Order: sequence, then structure tokens, then C-alpha cells
Amino acid sequence: MKIFNTLTRKKDDFKPINEGKVGIYVCGPTVYDYIHIGNARPMIVFDTLRRYFEYKGYEVNYVSNFTDVDDKIIKKAIEEGVDANVVSERFIEECRKDMAALNVREATTHPKATEEIDDMIAMVETLIEKGYAYEVNGTVYFRTRRFSDYGKLSKKNLDDLRAGNRELLVSGENEKEDALDFVLWKPKKEGEPFWQSPWGEGRPGWHLECSVMSKKYIGDIIDIHAGGEDLIFPHHENEIAQSEAANGTEFARYWMHNGFLRINNEKMSKSLGNFFTVREIGEKYDLQVIRFFMLSAHYRSPLNFSQELVEASKNGLERIKTAAARVEEAVSLGVSGDMTSTEKENVAVIDEFVSKYEAAMEDDLNTADAISVIFELVKHVNTTVEKGVSTKAYADKAYDTLKQLCDILGINVKEKAVLLDEEIEGLIQERQEARKAKNFARADEIRSLLTEKGIILEDTREGVRWKRA
Ligand code: AMP
Ligand code: ZN
Repeated sequence: MKIFNTLTRKKDDFKPINEGKVGIYVCGPTVYDYIHIGNARPMIVFDTLRRYFEYKGYEVNYVSNFTDVDDKIIKKAIEEGVDANVVSERFIEECRKDMAALNVREATTHPKATEEIDDMIAMVETLIEKGYAYEVNGTVYFRTRRFSDYGKLSKKNLDDLRAGNRELLVSGENEKEDALDFVLWKPKKEGEPFWQSPWGEGRPGWHLECSVMSKKYIGDIIDIHAGGEDLIFPHHENEIAQSEAANGTEFARYWMHNGFLRINNEKMSKSLGNFFTVREIGEKYDLQVIRFFMLSAHYRSPLNFSQELVEASKNGLERIKTAAARVEEAVSLGVSGDMTSTEKENVAVIDEFVSKYEAAMEDDLNTADAISVIFELVKHVNTTVEKGVSTKAYADKAYDTLKQLCDILGINVKEKAVLLDEEIEGLIQERQEARKAKNFARADEIRSLLTEKGIILEDTREGVRWKRA
């Protein structure tokens, strides 16, 4: 498989550190609010990478953290008058729900920064012992210039960075030896969560968290480190500096970064009023559609989110699901016995589509091309599978292939589309009218349709109440 490696700026052949195994670390969200649809992009993309590796027979150790100690979490906790962990625990739970709805599989491990503080302190101690870090008034800084490879990921030059940081030198940050030094450990402020350390009560710096959690759950060297492109500098550059200086070995072999999601060609931001959480979007669209939409572009390209584009994905996904349902029916009505010679030829065509799909995925996870191949396959099965005529053996092959290629993308062809609130309310209204008109057959039909979609109705004196099962 070829992977575009941010470290080398080219597509490199993927070679695992240990045969048949792959360790992937993906920087996870800071849990101070519901995740937004931009955050969903790396989750979906790298979950798909994991699924593809598993399809190829690799054993994947997939680690993605929750950053549960951070200025934004503390700010929210102060506003609400609760402890920071009340905020972070709440949004970890909400984030897990969103991930499940996006069909993002549970990671092998989802470490939380606050549960790994001892190892963070140990890494800071190692860095101090090795001369890569120093303490001033309870803050520990990384001595950036000591690490000669600094800038190798972001291709930044230390002197240019220093020129850009000149204002820092005169802005009171003069306790640092150098403007480029960054924080590993910071002293607590009043009302903030803190831990005991050799440098007094305080908390870790954000970059340190990922260096420590990836080391603990994967090892000193990891195969693939991933995240959004905004993390290249300074987050990932700093992770490399800390890990390589502390462990004395290379940190991550391949660095993968997803492009940004934009809304109607603008940066998503609260101030522009075009900021959407996954939860809000889930009320308008089935999140399977959102997943399919995200994978319809190459992960490194910027992706524009607009109603028209999402509608197009919705229709595309519907086309695939309709074909899958038809083929599944043909399986149950399949003729027993051997495939016909024409069917055998058609199997060869299906196998060619599988090879083409794999070639797209092997080319730096080109899910956009892989989806085009699925559409070609849909066209092929639509014309070659006929219920009551095709053999069960052929219909099976067509169905299994279509299902598998979609499964790798995390798209479940069998899943029934979720009804939106307004659709449910519309159906309930229709049922009420049918009952008034004494059309009980239609009323019952609507009730069973809703039951089938997991909606439970309750007739009360105040009217009809409903809930999702
Ligand atoms: P954060 O919680 O801000 O650290 O973000 C969690 C992950 O979401 C990181 O990998 C970010 O790079 C990624 N991310 C944030 N905003 C976007 C966006 N608009 N498009 C794509 N990825 C994003
Ligand atoms: Zn990270």
C-alpha cells in the first residue's frame, strides 16, 4: 500500500515494523463540547484506513485519545460551576455516541490524558535528565534548539521560526531560554485541576500527552500517526521532538494528515454562524450519508460541505442500498445448482472490480475512486442479477462482494435508513387522520412501519407520544 507521508512529502510504500501488524495513533478530540462535523472527518477517514488494513489481514492496534484536560474544558467548567472532569466525562460520552452513529469503531484503546499523568511526569524527568528540558518557576520547557531534527515534519526552519516569534521575546515570556521553547508542564492556577509533580502542583502540556499515550499503548516507534492537517505544526512537530529526544529512537514511520472540511466554501466558525455539530447534522441526515459523503473525496483534499453535495451523496447511497436489497432478494429466490457459464464470466468481472477497488485503496486510501468502483459494480449487478432467474451461487457472490466493499468504508448496506423527527411526526399525523376517517387498516400499517423503524408509539390522553427504541 502507498501512503502519502507528510514526513517525506511523497507516497511511500507502507512497510510495517512488525510483519502483519500495524500500530496507528490518531489524535483525538478535546472534549469540552459536542464534536463538530470537521472533527468527524479524521475519525471517519482513519477508521476506514483501519478497516482496510483489517480486510488485508493485518492485526491493527488503533489508539485514539481523549484530551480531557485543557483550557477550554476548564473555562466551560468554571462557567457551569462544576469540576472539569464533569464537563470532560459528559462530552466523552456524547462523543462516543456520535462515533457510534457514524459507524466509527471503538478504538483498541481510547486513553484519557488525565489517567496517564504519572507516565507524563516520567517522560518530563527523562527529558530533563537528558538535557532536553529545564524548569523555571514551576514550568518545564522543552529546549527546542537541542533537538537538531526540529522542523523535519513541518519543513520549518528554526531561524525563520525564531524571526516569526521575535515579538514573544519582548512580550514578557522572558523566563524561557529561547522563544521557540514550548511547555511540557505548567503550574496550576487557582480553580484549575492539578497533579503533584517534582516541579510543584500543575498539569501537562497538550503535546506531551500524545507522546506519552502513543508510547504506552503502541510503543516507542509507531507505524502510522494521523490527525488533521492543522496539527502538523506545532503539535506533531513537538510530539516528534519530545518522543525522539526521550526515547532515543525514531517516533512515527508514516504521518497522515486529512484536509479540512469547509462549509459552503468558507471556514467553519462560530462567528460566521456556519458551525455544525455532528448531533445537529444527525437530525437532518442519516449519519451513514455523512460518512459516505466524507469518503467521496480524497482525504487529503479540502472538502466542501453543502446541502447539494450531501443530497448527491444521499442519492448515491440510496442507489447502492437499493441494488443490495434487490440482490439480497435474488439470493433468497436463487436457483439452486451450479452457476451458468455466463454467470461464471460475470464473476470474473466482479473480481476485476474488487482488484480495481483494492488498487484505489492501496493508492493512498483513494476512497473517492473506490466509491466509483462500487458504482460500477452496482451497475453490473443491476444488469446481471435477476430474481428467480439467477443461481443462488451467483447472487450470493454479487451480494457478498457489494456488502464487503461497502463494509470496508463503514457503510452498512443493510441498515435501514433512520427516520427524521419531522418524518415521524408527519406519519403520526397521517395515522391520526386515518383513524378519524375510520381507515384503521392504514392506521395500523403506519404503526407497524414505525415499529419496524424502531419508533415506539404511545397513545395518551394528551395525544400520541413517541420515542426511539
Ligand atoms: P481538536 O479537538 O480541535 O483537537 O480536533 C480534533 C481533530 O479534528 C484533529 O485531528 C483536527 O485536526 C480535526 N479537525 C478539526 N477541525 C477540522 C475541520 N474543519 N476539518 C477536518 N478536520 C478537522
Ligand atoms: Zn496528538
